[in-house]
Amino acid sequence: MDCPKCDGAMQEHTTTLQGAVTIDRCADCGGMWFDNGEAEKLKGDWMSDFLDSGDRAVGKTQNLNTEINCPRCKKQMDTVKDPDQQHITYEAYKEHGMFMDAGEIADYKNETLIESFMKVINKVKGKISG
Ligand SMILES: [Zn+2]
Ligand SMILES: [Zn+2]
Repeated sequence: MDCPKCDGAMQEHTTTLQGAVTIDRCADCGGMWFDNGEAEKLKGDWMSDFLDSGDRAVGKTQNLNTEINCPRCKKQMDTVKDPDQQHITYEAYKEHGMFMDAGEIADYKNETLIESFMKVINKVKGKISG
């Protein structure tokens, strides 16, 4: 499979945490392709630090490249904002999967942790004021 962003070669990486998840990562730009359901399995999984080891500067540049085609079916993908984390954008083709630039899965995970933390804080605050 070729990288939909830079045409580099995608290499398969498999993590066996929480069941086997296979991720295709570009050897050139560090972007990652997730077949449907795979990103959800990795959310909050520390293994994503290891997998998302691409150069963040390259990832930020590639993030501006949004006119890309699904590597599975070659149809144009949609640019999607994460519903909970509006600063994270990625490309997705709903029947096949999503592509994240280098650094984005790490952001995804960190933001999830921060948001969980904020929910706890807000709960505590709510108890104090209510
Ligand atoms: Zn690439
Ligand atoms: Zn497709």
